[in-house]
Amino acid sequence: MGRVNGHHETVISGGRVWTRGELVETDVGIDGGRIARIGGRLDGAERVDAQDLWVLPGVIDGHTHMEAAAFGLHSRDTFESGTRAAAAGGVTTVLDFTAGSAESTLAEQVQARVAAARRAVVDIGLHAEIVGWRSDRAYEIAEAVRMGVTSFKFYTVYAEPSNPSQLADAFRVIAAAGGVAMVHAEDAGLIQTATEALPRGARLHMTSFPRSRPAASEAAAVSLVCQLAEIAGVRVHFAHLSTGAAVDVVRNAKARGLQVTAETCPHYLLLDERAYATADGRQFSVIPPLRSPEDQSTLWVALADGTIDSVATDHCPFVRAEKDHGDDVLSIPCGLPGVETLLPLLHSDGMVARGLSLDWLVRALCENPARIFGLAPQKGQVEVGADADLVLFDPRRAWTLSAGNLHMGADFSPYEGRRVRGAVIRTLVRGRTVWADGECCVEPGWGRFVPRSQALI
Ligand SMILES: [Zn+2]
Repeated sequence: MGRVNGHHETVISGGRVWTRGELVETDVGIDGGRIARIGGRLDGAERVDAQDLWVLPGVIDGHTHMEAAAFGLHSRDTFESGTRAAAAGGVTTVLDFTAGSAESTLAEQVQARVAAARRAVVDIGLHAEIVGWRSDRAYEIAEAVRMGVTSFKFYTVYAEPSNPSQLADAFRVIAAAGGVAMVHAEDAGLIQTATEALPRGARLHMTSFPRSRPAASEAAAVSLVCQLAEIAGVRVHFAHLSTGAAVDVVRNAKARGLQVTAETCPHYLLLDERAYATADGRQFSVIPPLRSPEDQSTLWVALADGTIDSVATDHCPFVRAEKDHGDDVLSIPCGLPGVETLLPLLHSDGMVARGLSLDWLVRALCENPARIFGLAPQKGQVEVGADADLVLFDPRRAWTLSAGNLHMGADFSPYEGRRVRGAVIRTLVRGRTVWADGECCVEPGWGRFVPRSQALI
């Protein structure tokens, strides 16, 4: 790859580089957008000083909703603004979603979304949303896989949920195509029952929101989906796990040898349902809802022991006025901003506060999402031949998180006022600096659609 006597296009020099499971003081030489060499005293046309910084693989946020139709509105980040915020937060690849529809093919839906994302500044991949599954559309799965869209998102709730027989049928097709079924798992019947059981007038109070989506609804749906996945022999990935009960189901499924992976989100790790009783309670509307402090502790244990594989943000920003609109708390648009604060918050709360290792952080934010979603070995690691997607991170820098300092499309932060340890200094995507010193450094469109292959785990 690299020219032997090493005059590289770009050299990251003097940093502590995370490669092959350890921090090494070395240089990284970059040519043609890829890591050409890792070694001491490299020469380069462009020299980036990383003294006192960590050089980490770029973060892969496996779950975002840029310019997405939701709750009768649109999420407040375009691909351009949302990926700029991603770059500010050290995220070099986001995996977003197509807009599933019965009226067009998956291939058309992929093309439409790739076109929508043409002004992205970091790389993007897509999960194909499946609504209204019919077995006569099975050929579309293989077609999507050929286009590099290898994961398929199902909902067991919302307007057009997939029922168990649709899931079973689709899972067989996805297994045959070597894809991954990604599932938003909540039991619609339990949610309906809990919602109907709310006392009169309760829907005026935000504390009713988590009661309308009980913890048991997640575990029940995760359990059913695991059983369907076992029969179909499909790889399944659970989106945004929020409860200890669902973690237990996943742990058992993994012990039985099922090909199951799971993600959780920063808001389930850092916030809990007591937020709904505060004056700003409406801001925290998110599905699944914030849970109990006990659930939160269980999620941290599951992340540390590998039961939960990755952390993704489910980034879906709305503004205060949208959250404050209307009396019925069950009609508030649900979703939180997250893509920009993922790495600093997980470093701060996982490593600094809980003593988890850098190995853990890189696995949860880079390596595991790359393996689960078929981006490895191109992305998710600092290794010769991989894309030069890198984040220069200062683990010592302390700052106070505030919506005013951030670039996401929300006018509030769920973490307002929090002291954070660790800051992104520079972000590179395929060798090009996309963010440095608080500024975006590329024109819109530097980000590319990344076709993905089959999963490695
Ligand atoms: Zn989502």
